[in-house]
Amino acid sequence: MSNSNFEGARSRDDRSNVPLNPEELETLTKPKVLISGAGLGGLTLAILLHKAKIPFLVLEKAYEVKPLGSALVIGTGAAPLLRQMGVYEDFLAIAKHQNHLNIMDENLKPQWTLNYDWLEDIGGGYKEYIVARPDLYNVLWNHVPRDRIHLGKRVLSFQESENQIQVHTSDNSLYHGDILVGADGAYSAVRQHLYKTLKATDDLPKSDDVALPYKCVCLVGQTDVLSPDEFPEVGKDVCQFSSILGLTNMCTNDSFRNSEWGPEAAVAMCNEWRHLKVPGGQTGELTLGDYIDRTPKEYIAKVMLEEIVFDTWYSGRTVLLGDACHKMNPTGGVGALMAISDAVTLANWISTLDVPHENDLKKIFKQYKAERYPAAKEAFQSSQLFTKTLGKGMLSVFVRSLMKRLPLWLWRRMLYKSVGPRPQASFLAPVEDNGSLKPFYQHSLQKTLAIRQERGLGPVVQEEQANATAV
Ligand SMILES: Cc1cc2nc3c(=O)[nH]c(=O)nc-3n(C[C@H](O)[C@H](O)[C@H](O)COP(=O)(O)OP(=O)(O)OC[C@H]3O[C@@H](n4cnc5c(N)ncnc54)[C@H](O)[C@@H]3O)c2cc1C
Repeated sequence: MSNSNFEGARSRDDRSNVPLNPEELETLTKPKVLISGAGLGGLTLAILLHKAKIPFLVLEKAYEVKPLGSALVIGTGAAPLLRQMGVYEDFLAIAKHQNHLNIMDENLKPQWTLNYDWLEDIGGGYKEYIVARPDLYNVLWNHVPRDRIHLGKRVLSFQESENQIQVHTSDNSLYHGDILVGADGAYSAVRQHLYKTLKATDDLPKSDDVALPYKCVCLVGQTDVLSPDEFPEVGKDVCQFSSILGLTNMCTNDSFRNSEWGPEAAVAMCNEWRHLKVPGGQTGELTLGDYIDRTPKEYIAKVMLEEIVFDTWYSGRTVLLGDACHKMNPTGGVGALMAISDAVTLANWISTLDVPHENDLKKIFKQYKAERYPAAKEAFQSSQLFTKTLGKGMLSVFVRSLMKRLPLWLWRRMLYKSVGPRPQASFLAPVEDNGSLKPFYQHSLQKTLAIRQERGLGPVVQEEQANATAV
């Protein structure tokens, strides 16, 4: 079994007489953070820790990064943080503005339109965008030092002692750190190991002792670049986003359970659904098959859409973020924003720590959960409401009729709720927020800013920071 530590960082127990340089000294007083999972949440945390000069290592099970997944809605809620992280320009270069969503029936007859035009005004001056997940992934990936991400490292288990945590990966390596962050997605190995340990001592709440519940199965993919001559809608400045209510064609066949984002289970579903009508194209006679045929097969995935918010988010030196502790239906379009918001909240608190004792961790993890759990619950409920628009039952019929007649004031209120939280990092220079309505109070920002001020600490200044000027 190989025993790996943070390369370049000397251990606290190193008794050699070689004097430490100032950078080593600074590193020695900081907690060492192991992150399981280089997804959107894990990479955001990695960038933030890098900027806060906190030593970290990301362990990712994949051997290479594949451009899997399709589109994500993101923008207004994440913009201030992306600016602080110095990635906003890169983000804008891959993003397409979204200001509406058309809902149609399966014959492509328009049902209602959700208008997002106000978002910029109530969302701090920031627009909403659609991005291809692989593109957003690349943007974040490119801002993490390459040697800080170790690929082909599937986290299997971990063991805690009084002073550290030891993580075991599938290639028989051991990693030591002060904190383990489970950012390893809906089927998080960190969560599973943590819950198993807690269950053995009767400390796992019954609500968490469950298999992941899911209600729908989803086919996702991303076509090759389409020509505007053949598909005029791709030439438009604003994203033409449509949602189709396939009420009579609804899928009831659940023969193929699949828990990973990957191509394996997709082929049968493609064949089953390729005849469905979809909007767009020159002739207006497109079917899903026209898009499937323009999508590389290895980049089509069939996934189950699990829906749960777990109650246990931390214990000892271990803490969860993103899909590992709350998994939403993507219809609500909040999964990525939630993971990113978890990451900045956690980074704010970790940035206040010196080498932590377990009790210090308990305090900051408690604060982290107190801020993020209610947000996750609320996002979960609103995701479920959006999912209801796609269903068949009486409640779905009611929700659809409500959506068609939604008063403007209520829609504006719903939008503000979703983009009101615009989190920022307390250890980076703040970014201005210029909307008609202020962002929501962010507990971790205010509290950790106060801690920094007490210690006479300003923002960590970095080269890219200088470019992230106010809006
Ligand atoms: C390949 C992929 C494609 C996706 N496509 C879409 C999409 O098109 N639309 C959408 O709305 N959402 C998509 N999602 C989900 C979306 O990215 C997440 O809901 C959201 O971003 C939350 O991110 P996360 O970091 O918590 O989890 P994820 O983004 O799921 O990342 C988890 C990471 O942990 C890694 N991992 C898992 N187990 C282990 C382990 N034992 N040890 C080490 N690493 C591990 C995974 O390989 C992955 O890189 C996709 C997720 C993935 C992984």
